[in-house]
Amino acid sequence: MELFFNTSLAEAYHSKLQKIRVMSEDWVNNNVYCVRCGHNKLARFENNKPVGDFYCANCKEEFELKSKKSKLGRKIVDGAYETMIQKIEKGDIPNFFYLNYDLNDYSVNNLLIIPKHYFTKNIIIKRPPLSRTARRAGWVGCNIDVSSIPTSGKLYLIYNKQIIDKNMVISNFKKMLFLRNQKEDLKGWLLDIMKCIDLLNKKTFTLNEIYTFENFLKLKYPKNNNIKAKIRQQLQILRDYSYLSFTQRGEYTLL
Ligand SMILES: [Zn+2]
Repeated sequence: MELFFNTSLAEAYHSKLQKIRVMSEDWVNNNVYCVRCGHNKLARFENNKPVGDFYCANCKEEFELKSKKSKLGRKIVDGAYETMIQKIEKGDIPNFFYLNYDLNDYSVNNLLIIPKHYFTKNIIIKRPPLSRTARRAGWVGCNIDVSSIPTSGKLYLIYNKQIIDKNMVISNFKKMLFLRNQKEDLKGWLLDIMKCIDLLNKKTFTLNEIYTFENFLKLKYPKNNNIKAKIRQQLQILRDYSYLSFTQRGEYTLL
């Protein structure tokens, strides 16, 4: 994997955005492997395919690319709100690459993937409709609320210009594939509990520490009258899938 864009490709284009698009897509095409099966090259969809920009010819996994000069923040501005919700409902949302480039030397600072199984309707936030004077008046776009995605859902392939070990990336991707088999409601709960664990910022924690999020979760799930039981249930599922282990009574360790 090499970190520099092929800048000669940009010469044929005038707009800055187009130059970046062409160079970054070419870079992914030539440097990025499939995080699911390890296949060493991703293929490009022909233009204007409804889903994704890239796919793996080996395992058929699909990938969309967003390239920005800024680091990943709390949200990502994305396309039409309704389209996004429908994709999530149908389960045909692609994995999401976020590439942060360096404009000084056209190289890659950071590349991370948000696996498709981390997308729920909860993290898709409606933007206000475009004003009546806009060309596409009334159109409603969305933001992806990245801040509520747990750390395990932001897998870096390149972090501050350092290439992360490929086998580690693939194994971290595979470890969480069980999320794909969970129904939307349960998945929402699992992701919320994973996020709460992240916020504790500890490798080992107690049940009581997770219970401190009870009020926060109650706001999110006002109809649920037994938040504590729900928390314990998620911790058990996370243990069954080796995300964490139970050490002593009421104590948990992340794996
Ligand atoms: Zn693959």
